[in-house]
Amino acid sequence: MKEKIHPALHQVTVTCACGHTVKTWSTLSKNFTIEICSHCHPYFTGKQKLIDTAGKVEKFNKKYGAWQAAAAKRGKKAAPIAH
Ligand SMILES: [Zn+2]
Repeated sequence: MKEKIHPALHQVTVTCACGHTVKTWSTLSKNFTIEICSHCHPYFTGKQKLIDTAGKVEKFNKKYGAWQAAAAKRGKKAAPIAH
């Protein structure tokens, strides 16, 4: 390796939202957190899990949740999408 062209590496601890931690090397000189890791991602666990990083489900429920609840109260199924 050439000298003085590589950034300094620091040993950091990465903490996942599931609680799993991993020690690794990074040019970032502080510990940081992540939202998903190989210990909790459905691809690795084999269990289906809803990953809603952009808040899309919450947004949908906010927009249509009350409407669906009202429809259920009237004893109807959620109305089909009009074409
Ligand atoms: Zn995790």
